[in-house]
Amino acid sequence: MSLQQELPQCSICSSPNAYELSGVVGKYAKCSQCQTKWKLIVENQKIVGLALHELPKNGAGLYKVASTNAPLYIEIGKPIALVFWKDLKLDGKIDWAFLSNAVDPTVLECVIIDKAEQILNLWTGNRHIKNDKAPTGPAKPRIIIQIGSLLLTSRRLIWLEKRRMGVWKPQFTYQVSLDMPLEDIKGISAESGDSGNWESAEKFQSSPTAAKTPSTFKTPSKNYSSR
Ligand SMILES: [Zn+2]
Repeated sequence: MSLQQELPQCSICSSPNAYELSGVVGKYAKCSQCQTKWKLIVENQKIVGLALHELPKNGAGLYKVASTNAPLYIEIGKPIALVFWKDLKLDGKIDWAFLSNAVDPTVLECVIIDKAEQILNLWTGNRHIKNDKAPTGPAKPRIIIQIGSLLLTSRRLIWLEKRRMGVWKPQFTYQVSLDMPLEDIKGISAESGDSGNWESAEKFQSSPTAAKTPSTFKTPSKNYSSR
């Protein structure tokens, strides 16, 4: 049985267009309309489920799924029974409150947030900064790697550098080192949009929809470069 027979219309965008198939060891199917990519879960030569491998390019990955009351993107990497995808209903809205649940309160203590400003999301990662003071040469790298968190609010994108305080009882604090109004951002690129290099966060591990959950929910951990 082919996916076209099992799922005649794409569950994300309802397009009846054919799927593009790929993969040698594992088989993948991509909707030619919204570009959602799934890994086929095959048992006895029958497709029994699909694992979301790449999010749709139309932004629907952030929409809430009616049956789980959570955004679609948290299902990434989990093998889920075919019936879930057949009955998938997306409500077309983004649950911003759900997204901000993942934000570490320690970080929020270090930023001044306006009353009208909403906290949207936080990603941990590192930022590569050019060190202009360092002398050139193979022994002295000119790039400094700063560990920290990237905070997205309804108005700004803020980079907070993680700092260690104290010797005997070390504590971590965050210091704002980049504060950009959203209207000043011209574009964003990431190293990879694939789920393969995302790191796990325990917060969203349990999902009633997952048939088996070998992989946990993943949040992106990427490099953020300053302009
Ligand atoms: Zn589609």
